[in-house]
Amino acid sequence: MRLERFRGDAMDGLMQPRPLTIAHILERAERLFAHKEIVTAGAGRSTYAEVAGNTRRLATALDSLGVLPGARVATFASNSRRHLELYLGVPATKRVLHSINIRLPAEHLEYIVNHAEDDVVFVDRGLLPRIWPSVDRLPVVRHWVVLPDGTDTPIPADPRISGYDELISAAEPFAGSFEDTFALADENLAAGLCYTSGTTGPPKGVLYSHRSTILHCLGTLAAGLIGLCESDVVLPIVPMFHANAWGLPYGAMMAGAALVLPGASAEPGHLLRLMAAERVTVAGAVPTVWTSLAPELRAHDLSATRFLLGGGSAVPPALSETYLAAIGVPITHSWGMTEVSPVGVIGGTRTQHRDATAADQVAVRAAQGQPLPLVNVRIADVETGEELPRDGRAVGELQVAGPWVAGAYFRVDSAESFTEDGWLRTGDLATIDAQGYLRLVDRMKDLIKSGGEWISSVELEAAIASHPDVVEVAVIARPDPRWMERPVACVALREGSATTADELRRHITPMVAKWWLPDEFVFMATLPKTGTGKLSKIALRESARTA
Ligand code: ADP
Repeated sequence: MRLERFRGDAMDGLMQPRPLTIAHILERAERLFAHKEIVTAGAGRSTYAEVAGNTRRLATALDSLGVLPGARVATFASNSRRHLELYLGVPATKRVLHSINIRLPAEHLEYIVNHAEDDVVFVDRGLLPRIWPSVDRLPVVRHWVVLPDGTDTPIPADPRISGYDELISAAEPFAGSFEDTFALADENLAAGLCYTSGTTGPPKGVLYSHRSTILHCLGTLAAGLIGLCESDVVLPIVPMFHANAWGLPYGAMMAGAALVLPGASAEPGHLLRLMAAERVTVAGAVPTVWTSLAPELRAHDLSATRFLLGGGSAVPPALSETYLAAIGVPITHSWGMTEVSPVGVIGGTRTQHRDATAADQVAVRAAQGQPLPLVNVRIADVETGEELPRDGRAVGELQVAGPWVAGAYFRVDSAESFTEDGWLRTGDLATIDAQGYLRLVDRMKDLIKSGGEWISSVELEAAIASHPDVVEVAVIARPDPRWMERPVACVALREGSATTADELRRHITPMVAKWWLPDEFVFMATLPKTGTGKLSKIALRESARTA
């Protein structure tokens, strides 16, 4: 009230009201970093100059297909140079890039394409068999464009299909400035669309704006966070359909860093060879991928590596420490979600931890970290919604606010996902300490309620993962007549390991409360993964239920 009264005396600044747009990333890279390289595994080397040239042709090619401003242009593709051209050309021409998770079951895939009303789908040739069988249930799609990917997968004879390279070479390049076509108000235009996996109910669309994308990009670029710079060689292992590959492609281009795109293979040897051969400095991936690379780290020259980003689910502390010991770089923990563009919080030690003991530093690195500039986080009582103290002990629902945090979902009623004052309710449970360090306790739906007390599946998993023979672990709840729920640990052991349930129980006994000890250890060859490569607790619960 008081502030409003004083508004009359306040002054407007006199700076230029230039819009924040993805067109700027494209034109900056074209002007300043034309010679910098983009390498796509198996598909050769290219430069920003070539990417920008193709993007200018893509712009007019989309016009010739009759794709209107605001129309959704979908990609169904792995990380490649051509996918990058779509990342630039679609939003720079005021269309909306909808990157689709290539591992979705057909039912979800069909739901989101129809929900988004995708006008065109750009699909990797090798991925045609995953999406083309749905074509009759995707009446909204007018055009299909096939991206060459080194495979010779048969292309159906259908008039709706064209080839990307043919389309590009037939198009005249747009010669003007994309950036100059944007007015100030346009910075709020939609630029990208990603659907969350929809673990409860159908998938929900998060609609990024140009402004949110640019601010997120600058946020992650900041020194002391990821701090991407011109001398970096950036490898987004995280797929370009998983929340914009965490902003790494846009960030790399903004900074003028070289980009290495891994193509379709996530095979550990392939990724490690790529890191060594291209002297990769920065890479990002979910913990299951970092786990798969861990046994081979010392067999490759990873001396160029300076920063490894891990998120999407909790990075087990033992995993990060394995990297630190083997290559001198830990995995920096980051918390995010599709709704947060996705990076909201980033970990690692700060100056105040310099003199901390080694054990304390491990504990700090295990935390998800502090919020990025412009991001606000708080925790709230799950029952009352009241804000809880930042004392490192109180556990509450994590809520987030900021200029790159979703304010609503696309075309669905999303009221229950937001508080009355507009903060996003994340569905995660966390503590926040006096220095703003956030520790994720669990997803609300994964927390185990035993005898009226809570057991954090994340903490239990970290304890079990610290056993040297454990490769993967996920703890799920099993209904129990006496305690309501009890923990069951699903574990994949290193090949040839003879470790028993008793041995694992003994190993974690000093680390957790006695009543947290899992009732059962279920040994499996590998654990099921979700479409984004995280361990799938839904699949595990399902198999436990039907076993
Ligand atoms: P999905 O729900 O399909 O996994 P997202 O990739 O958007 O979609 O996942 C966001 C969720 O992932 C968060 O709400 C949180 O539960 C989990 N998550 C993300 N980063 C971390 C992290 N560093 N530690 C623990 N959990 C994380």
